[in-house]
Amino acid sequence: MRQNMVLDKTLVQWINEKPVIAEVIAYNPVLWINDHLYDNEDATYNNLELNWKDVLEAEERWIRFAPLISKLFPETMPQKGIIESALVELSHMKAAIKNTYNTDLDGKLFLKCDNDLPVAGSIKARGGIYEVLKQAELLALSNGMLKEDQDYSLLADKEFKEFFGRFSLAVGSTGNLGLSIGIMGSALGFKVTVHMSADAKQWKKDLLRSKGVIVVEYESDYSKAVEAGRRLALQDEMCYFVDDEHSKDLFLGYSAAAIRLKRQLEEKGIKVDKQNPLFVYLPCGVGGAPGGICFGLKLLFKENVHCFFAEPTHSPCMLLGLATGKNDSVCVQDFGIDNITEGDGLAVGRSSGFVGKVMENLLSGVYTIDDNELFKLLALLEDSENIQIEPSAAASLMGPITLKKDKAGIDYIREHNIQQHMNHATHIAWATGGSFVPVNLKREFYEKGKQLLEL
Ligand SMILES: *Cc1c(COP(=O)(O)O)cnc(C)c1O
Repeated sequence: MRQNMVLDKTLVQWINEKPVIAEVIAYNPVLWINDHLYDNEDATYNNLELNWKDVLEAEERWIRFAPLISKLFPETMPQKGIIESALVELSHMKAAIKNTYNTDLDGKLFLKCDNDLPVAGSIKARGGIYEVLKQAELLALSNGMLKEDQDYSLLADKEFKEFFGRFSLAVGSTGNLGLSIGIMGSALGFKVTVHMSADAKQWKKDLLRSKGVIVVEYESDYSKAVEAGRRLALQDEMCYFVDDEHSKDLFLGYSAAAIRLKRQLEEKGIKVDKQNPLFVYLPCGVGGAPGGICFGLKLLFKENVHCFFAEPTHSPCMLLGLATGKNDSVCVQDFGIDNITEGDGLAVGRSSGFVGKVMENLLSGVYTIDDNELFKLLALLEDSENIQIEPSAAASLMGPITLKKDKAGIDYIREHNIQQHMNHATHIAWATGGSFVPVNLKREFYEKGKQLLEL
């Protein structure tokens, strides 16, 4: 039967080859472990098309732009224009997890609070803003209006606003990426168009329109919105398209987070080595944000950091791309999966092929999480730590629980021969968004989580 084929195999053949796919199709939460992960092989890190120099360059560009960011967004002044979030230990949440999930986590649990990132309110502040800055710099340098050693705060001047006003930016997005591009782009003076998928929330469209951004709405999902945006942008030579599915700039903007995290760990006296393993849990949509961060962390900490991506059970695109080895040639709909989730930014049916390729040997695994657990975890976090995050961000908190409980996780720890070091492990759940969510919606999320917890 034609409809049961995915590429050259039937669904039954896929399932025989990779039994985990049966569970994924049934929307059951799973932990998939990557058997192509390279350990202890410096060669892996050197053979990638991007390297450490690219990550450093990204961080240097952030530093050049810091005076401008501080001027345009006064809330970043205390950090001198560096857009960064806190790393917070979750000792009460660890206890709450023990009570609710019957899981006594080994080592320490932290939250990387990108839910609080200034300017864009989500992890997209790292990638989206970076790509806009890079494009602005390129235009200003190549038109002889700027030199790299100048104070970039002059880019806030009227003449630059007029100059950037001759150019436009476009992006396809489920919401948060559009926010980051729209907010930064319009602050510089660019004309910005955001192509929004059907699942994008109304408040995000309203916020963007209030900043003068053109929002085009689609009745289809994220991939279609990106495709339409890309096509329209290509017809206009003054328009630059931020391509979430292929962009190396987005990826590198995210990767600089690794440098910042290393510094934060050092400041807290947290070691990362064989005896002190680091586990990082990152919610994944198309893959750019978690991929960029994983890439930076693997270059820094090699086999001593273990990165896991989190995806909703209804949108496991990276898991399917990696498990089948077919990367972006397959999408969740091919397997009859509906790509419907409350996790904003995670409703992506087809992962980035470029990111999938880079992750092939770096990523430890991918786990999936049911939408109900997202709400439970965010309510638990608010009750225990008084921190509010959005549902997609809460996917990260399931990571240490899954690793400890799931047989595949127990096997992973054993095979890496680190069970005796787990008492010294550091678990970091990457909270990818939250602070821009309107108060009434935050209440709704919390109430929903509380109800589910009481069941
Ligand atoms: C975009 C987003 C992600 C995932 O990032 P990708 O680059 O799409 O993988 C996770 N959480 C939130 C809140 C996001 O907005």
